[in-house]
Amino acid sequence: MKKGKLLYEGKAKRVYETDNKDLLIQQFKDDATAFDATKRGTIVNKGVINNEISRILFELLESKGIETHFVKQLDDRNMLMKRVEIIPLEVTIRNVVAGGMAKLLALEEGIVLDEPVLEYHYKKDELHDPLINDYHAKAMKLATDEELDFIKQRSFEINNILKSFFDHKGLDLVDFKLEFGRHKGKILLADEISPDTCRFWDKKTKKKLDKDRFRRDLGNVEDAYQEVLKRIIAE
Ligand code: UDP
Repeated sequence: MKKGKLLYEGKAKRVYETDNKDLLIQQFKDDATAFDATKRGTIVNKGVINNEISRILFELLESKGIETHFVKQLDDRNMLMKRVEIIPLEVTIRNVVAGGMAKLLALEEGIVLDEPVLEYHYKKDELHDPLINDYHAKAMKLATDEELDFIKQRSFEINNILKSFFDHKGLDLVDFKLEFGRHKGKILLADEISPDTCRFWDKKTKKKLDKDRFRRDLGNVEDAYQEVLKRIIAE
């Protein structure tokens, strides 16, 4: 599959057209940004690691009946995916209090939630991805009632699958962000699933093994991404 025109360049990925109008190529970059792109940097090899981690997790989810935009891995930085119309909602699922939820509600990071918490953030950089609810999403015509119900149910299913998978790898899945897109009348899981979009803590030591090492200048960022991949691959 040959790369066509660059369709979109984001903070961590480039998306290219292909000679098939229903398929796109997603290329993972080493660039990292945080805090509305006020903090910028490079995480060496991040693109390669995130491409591989996303492939493994999309394949895992597909094997459990979750439809995703993933088609196949092309090489170490590129994956082929179905073209979707992205629903401009960032769906966050939290199992443990951290990051934005700790700040919003003045809670300590690390509190284990009795039930997962689902949040929607309106995907709009100029507004700093504000926290919204179903009513805002409907008022803004971002998605219909049926789509929101499906997205919610899917997100909790994905959480169950990923939480149990990472549990076996000695990692707590603290929280993560998902994006969904429309494709031929269906809603598919899109974007990526990686240490850029999830928080992973070592189960025993609670060491952070995700993008928080970059956001908070904790050091050993590359090693943390590599460690997550190593754990995922390990039997
Ligand atoms: N997240 C993401 N992209 C964003 C914002 C958050 O992938 O634009 C992920 C983040 O890595 C974490 C989860 O979503 O795993 C929840 O993030 P939170 O709302 O706590 O915001 P943050 O602390 O990252 O600002």
